[in-house]
Amino acid sequence: MVYTIRPPFFYRLLYSDAFFRFKQANKKLFLTFDDGPIPGVTDWVLDELKKHNAKATFFCLGKNVKAYPYLFDRIKAEGHAVGNHTYNHTNGWKVGFKEYMKDVEKCANEAFESSLFRPPYGKIKPLQFKAVNKSYKVVFWDVIAGDFDLSKTPEQCLNNVLNYTRNGSIIVLHDSKKAGPTLKEILPKILEAYSDYTFSKL
Ligand SMILES: [Zn+2]
Repeated sequence: MVYTIRPPFFYRLLYSDAFFRFKQANKKLFLTFDDGPIPGVTDWVLDELKKHNAKATFFCLGKNVKAYPYLFDRIKAEGHAVGNHTYNHTNGWKVGFKEYMKDVEKCANEAFESSLFRPPYGKIKPLQFKAVNKSYKVVFWDVIAGDFDLSKTPEQCLNNVLNYTRNGSIIVLHDSKKAGPTLKEILPKILEAYSDYTFSKL
């Protein structure tokens, strides 16, 4: 899978209504966790965040919220934000408008409501964006760690974060089964490296 640590260069122009980074933020960072909740990963993340008094935003899949409602409840109870990441992790570049919107709405109707949305794979077509943007604040990112990429070592993923994070960055991590082992190595180090920053939810 090809991806860059920063969003594709045209995203900030094409999707200027979306969130990428908060330049005005005063020593603040925004951790985001996609694709959960997953037992053994999401609960570990929540414990880790609690230790550092950090708040974050979880872009949950509707199907996982339905499968593990107790984890979703814990995310909310501990003061974190949640966002729609579709029900089934639909790639907007691979499906038409109707099918895409159906999966966005399924997450809202069958799993949970939210005012935030992140497109799976960061892939969304302009018409899909326009429709989603009416009901949600669309959140892209400023830094991708690459923890979902099994060809990268945890050290490489950590370095992506350390080298690219700047004040106000929205950082993408994954509380998924696949990313779990890497996440468990790098999240404590990220929280430690930026201990003079406030970690906020969106
Ligand atoms: Zn995802």
